Amino acid sequence: MEFLPATNRRKRKGLVVLMKNYNVGIIGATGMVGQRFATLLENHPWFHVTALAASGRSAGQTYREAVEGRWKMKTPLPESMADLVLYDATNDIDKIAEKVDFVFCAVNMPKAEIRALEEAYAKKEVPVVSNNSAHRGTPDVPMIVPELNADHAEVIPFQRKRLGTKKGFIAVKSNCSLQSYVPALSPLKDAFGLKSVLACTYQAISGAGKTFETFPEIVDNVIPYIGGEEEKSEQEPLKLWGHIENGVIVNADGPVITSQCLRVPVSDGHTAAVFASFEKKPTIEEIKKIWAEFKGPIHDLHLPSAPQQFIHYFEEPDRPQAKLDRDMDGGMGVEVGRLREDKLFDIKFVCLSHNTLLGAAGGAVLTAELLAVKGYFD
Ligand code: NAP
Repeated sequence: MEFLPATNRRKRKGLVVLMKNYNVGIIGATGMVGQRFATLLENHPWFHVTALAASGRSAGQTYREAVEGRWKMKTPLPESMADLVLYDATNDIDKIAEKVDFVFCAVNMPKAEIRALEEAYAKKEVPVVSNNSAHRGTPDVPMIVPELNADHAEVIPFQRKRLGTKKGFIAVKSNCSLQSYVPALSPLKDAFGLKSVLACTYQAISGAGKTFETFPEIVDNVIPYIGGEEEKSEQEPLKLWGHIENGVIVNADGPVITSQCLRVPVSDGHTAAVFASFEKKPTIEEIKKIWAEFKGPIHDLHLPSAPQQFIHYFEEPDRPQAKLDRDMDGGMGVEVGRLREDKLFDIKFVCLSHNTLLGAAGGAVLTAELLAVKGYFD
């Protein structure tokens, strides 16, 4: 039986459609990423929010009460969730497990506690799609960017065996900093062999869960340090480019990546200035053609949150710009420009992605859609 999402039913008449609805929870619903999940899921065709959770400080309040004075989204609080009473993410796992088929998780806690929390949900047979970094290094936890490495989901049965679960597992998103340059480099890596990469990122304040009101020090300023970000930017691409072997993801052994990550006074949208050298130096035209024609492994699945065109190339010399271009394709696209030859590396270019959409909640929703289609929540 072929699965087609409802949004494509009319386009693909004649094929058998298997539709499923899932009840979902948002763990960390009051935070910056959690709020983004709430707005993205408000009218989602497959996922219906039935449980919200945060810390003990928020538990027992309605969502409306808990986020009063700290709603950071440009769209209003979803009415359908406003009266849901928040659970305590740690102490109410059993209650949440009764109400959901899987959860999204984005919490601000020490890493060891997040690791334990996510495993506790998985062991209660609640799959976890996580935006947290705590499990990104766990070898049998897939770190999925659906357009690039959807096949890494195939490690889930091995993880379930380790956890002793039938349904529960953890899948994670990669860090938002690399969400523009890894997609741009991936098809070039496949075609020309990638030797070395230098990536300097200029990261928005929403990546720190902040707005200009809550982060006045960033106005008229650049802060040249984001804790842990450079390590993530250099190491996580190697997992994304890795492969499954003996029940774990084995990281790619190259390219060499070096990075510097700066916090800049931009509300949303991480920009990266990227330099790269290849085994076989491509021409500028070859690269543009590969980006224009790029179709990832989910292209034909027609997932509801997938962008029409994943990589957009701008010929204008002053694009992409965070303010103008971060929302392209619903904030789920990667915007690239200024591709040219370099004196030290083979090429250089600039790229941009929306850090809380593609780089966080939107990317996690797309990952969940992929996992739903592949039957991992059933
Ligand atoms: P945030 O705005 O500070 O929100 C943190 C959330 O965690 C809140 O819902 C908070 O609940 C909850 N929380 C804090 N302590 C808790 C506890 N002890 N038990 C249960 N819940 C607790 O943070 P954020 O920016 O949304 O980031 C959340 C996670 O996503 C982090 O791991 C971050 O690294 C990751 N992430 C963020 C971005 C981004 O662009 N912002 C991108 C990728 C990944 P209360 O309101 O009750 O305190």
